[in-house]
Amino acid sequence: MNNPVNPTTGLDFTPAVGDMPFTPLQRELLAKAHALGRDKFAARAPQWDREASFPFANYDDLRDAGFLKLCVPTAHGGLGADYTTYMMVAAEIGRFCGATALTWNMHICSTMWTGVLADGIDMTDEQRAEHLARRELHFSRIVNDGAIYAQPFSEGTAAAAGRAPFGTTAKKVDGGWLINGRKIWASLSGAADYYGILCTEDKGDDHPDARDTLYISVPATSEGFSISGDWDPLGMRGTVSRNLAFKDVFVSDAEQLMPRGIYFKGAQTWPAMFFTLSPTYLGLANAAYDFTVKYLRGEVEGEPPIKRRQFPTKQITVAQMRIQLESMKSIFARAIAEAKPNPSKDEKLRLYAAHYSVMEGANDIARLAIRTCGGQSMMKHLPLERLYRDSRCGALMLPWTAELILDRMGRETLYEAGEKDA
Ligand SMILES: Cc1cc2nc3c(=O)[nH]c(=O)nc-3n(C[C@H](O)[C@H](O)[C@H](O)COP(=O)(O)OP(=O)(O)OC[C@H]3O[C@@H](n4cnc5c(N)ncnc54)[C@H](O)[C@@H]3O)c2cc1C
Repeated sequence: MNNPVNPTTGLDFTPAVGDMPFTPLQRELLAKAHALGRDKFAARAPQWDREASFPFANYDDLRDAGFLKLCVPTAHGGLGADYTTYMMVAAEIGRFCGATALTWNMHICSTMWTGVLADGIDMTDEQRAEHLARRELHFSRIVNDGAIYAQPFSEGTAAAAGRAPFGTTAKKVDGGWLINGRKIWASLSGAADYYGILCTEDKGDDHPDARDTLYISVPATSEGFSISGDWDPLGMRGTVSRNLAFKDVFVSDAEQLMPRGIYFKGAQTWPAMFFTLSPTYLGLANAAYDFTVKYLRGEVEGEPPIKRRQFPTKQITVAQMRIQLESMKSIFARAIAEAKPNPSKDEKLRLYAAHYSVMEGANDIARLAIRTCGGQSMMKHLPLERLYRDSRCGALMLPWTAELILDRMGRETLYEAGEKDA
């Protein structure tokens, strides 16, 4: 039986982001994401988790649905989804497969950093002209060839936390750049066609400066590029986030994803771009809650129809889970509605609070789900133990780990920009 259509949302399901008056495009994309997740991704998720393998089949579906070009502007043949719309759709995908949603985020960010983010950063006329010409190439690879971009920033140093220049370097040579260095935790390793890396421009002196960060794409077929390392983590096993090495890798000027110096400005101008890791985890929290309700009602397919809902302690836990989930959704919805270049101090603090609430809350909800559903619920044939492991990963992701959010919030609340103690 179909659920009734909610007059506010125009949808016959409650999206992970919550109920709100969606635009026609948002409604269409949410319905598509929900159907893909429910009918295809949910059933495949145990396989990627068991094998620690990349969800290639899901990417074929994402490509067919037009979701690889979701945030490519319509003028370039994409679906033209804005930041807010992407965040809503990503949460819906995360509800059915965390690893797919998280890796898809890395790909989508490559189009948002070069698209909507770059549009909101001050550039000179020459920089703007250079950027508009170069991004056409990147967008066309995605629109015409269905190419996948990865986003390897981490190096195992303070660089991805925004506290030091990247150790990977790019030296200007005739017609392009020579890249040297390494990355760790590169989701989509071996699956991506292009790796959009952050590196520091090597200007030939001993003073690397984060303002010289270069955002540049390395084709997977480049000579001197290699992937290494074992992959057998606790959770998010389908992300296949291995190590990358660059040894005198030559890439042409056309591979620049942003003009020199613009990434550094962008990171400061658009803090909400780092919030894009969170919808995956909002989706996981929803999945843990959805499962708990079904399980306690004795309605999980393939399980004995044993009801556990009559116990007051279980009712209380479901109430606690719902309260936490509603709080997460509310602050998430507010943060995505407020996302913009140069937010006010309060908007920025709220953004941090939203990120922290989602990243820590997702694992809290999964923990409560396991505790109240009980021992039989954590068997491998059910999704709950995977949701618990996957949800643990969000708070570890740089640059906004849970620890670093607390660090930023405390400092930025008590100190105005440039203020110091005597
Ligand atoms: C599932 C998953 C997928 C990922 N995919 C990608 C990807 O596609 N691309 C990518 O670039 N990265 C990715 N990462 C990596 C991630 O963003 C982090 O870089 C990585 O988890 C850091 O691991 P580490 O052991 O080096 O931690 P460290 O960098 O050693 O940090 C340990 C902790 O110390 C704190 N810390 C670190 N630096 C500072 C500092 N300067 N000041 C104060 N505290 C600090 C942080 O809170 C952090 O939690 C992924 C991570 C996960 C879990």
